[in-house]
Amino acid sequence: MKPIDLRSDTLTTPSIEMRRAMANAVVGDDCYGEDSTVQKLERVVADLFGKESALFMPTGTMSNQVALRIHTRPGDEVLTDAAYHIAYFESAQSSDLAGVMLNTCSSPRGVLDIETLERQIATKPRGGNYAQVRLIWLENSISGCGGVVFPLPRLREISSFARTSGYHLHIDGARIFNAAIAEGQPFHAYGECCDTISICFAKGLGAPFGSALLGSAEQIREAKRFRKWYGGALHQSGIMAAGALYALEHNISRLAEDHSNARRLALLLGHDPLLHVSTPDPETNMVYFNLRHDQITAAQFARECAREGVLLFPWTGDVVRAVTHLGITDNDIARAAAIISAVAHRVVKSAPHSSASITGATRIEGEESRCVTPIQ
Ligand SMILES: *Cc1c(COP(=O)(O)O)cnc(C)c1O
Repeated sequence: MKPIDLRSDTLTTPSIEMRRAMANAVVGDDCYGEDSTVQKLERVVADLFGKESALFMPTGTMSNQVALRIHTRPGDEVLTDAAYHIAYFESAQSSDLAGVMLNTCSSPRGVLDIETLERQIATKPRGGNYAQVRLIWLENSISGCGGVVFPLPRLREISSFARTSGYHLHIDGARIFNAAIAEGQPFHAYGECCDTISICFAKGLGAPFGSALLGSAEQIREAKRFRKWYGGALHQSGIMAAGALYALEHNISRLAEDHSNARRLALLLGHDPLLHVSTPDPETNMVYFNLRHDQITAAQFARECAREGVLLFPWTGDVVRAVTHLGITDNDIARAAAIISAVAHRVVKSAPHSSASITGATRIEGEESRCVTPIQ
């Protein structure tokens, strides 16, 4: 039987219909400005988020790295949360490529607030000779905190703080579609809060490839330059853009199913006394949990589950992540929960020091109010 793959929402493969749309795409060389499918995609997403322009990018990482370049100069500081992708997975390239310093805060569930930002700015001298904060970097949904939605009212507060204080604001919206569907808000509401936003087609939307960076015409002109520098200027990329257009048309509203599947998985796993679910009521498509037994690492537990047909992602030393997505059904959720529980029981029974089990994971529970990513 095919494994139930809950490692990430990037693991979807394009449907026959999406492949057909890609095969039939009208293409040209986008470096010559002649790929009408890419141009159509850029127009569609810019309009959707109420931005002037958009630029098709190969990956979310490139959108993020180019965004850093257009907002900052080497030596500048970027205020962000330690749990966000930019800090957790992209700190090396941010310091290398853009030459910026990520000044990280830790906020409850990753939802930054103005007081925290102000405090972080005030920790050091900011006169002309010193490091300047240029950019505030937010993420929505917040994957490292369990797919938390960054609430729109808070986004608006930070947006007006940034505008009045002269800071630029970027949203890493790799999963903004999940956030907007969960919050029931139109996409342009998020676009209006920021200078630039990066979005992804290869996460919950189920396309095989692509991201876009959205902003003003001037910012996107500048972004195009850096996309070229970074090797991301593509030629007949309309084939990939057609997959993204198909995804936008067919796969947005169904994200609500992924969210209810995540809630159901969290509920089923939460009934098992051997498991601790750090996201008991997921807002979007992620469930983070750990075995209440500290003899087994997340990687070992994920390996055991894989043998039984459920693939999970070991997020940190002891926390495992499950992500629901296109192609994961109700039945898969019930089966995955049953398999995970059965593996947990087998593992705890056969592990050494099993008398110490059940209470072993209290430190994870202590993290709960802040974030599921235990960052030191
Ligand atoms: C996946 C992801 C990225 C990077 O996207 P890639 O296309 O994998 O490079 C950036 N930010 C967030 C929040 C993500 O989840």
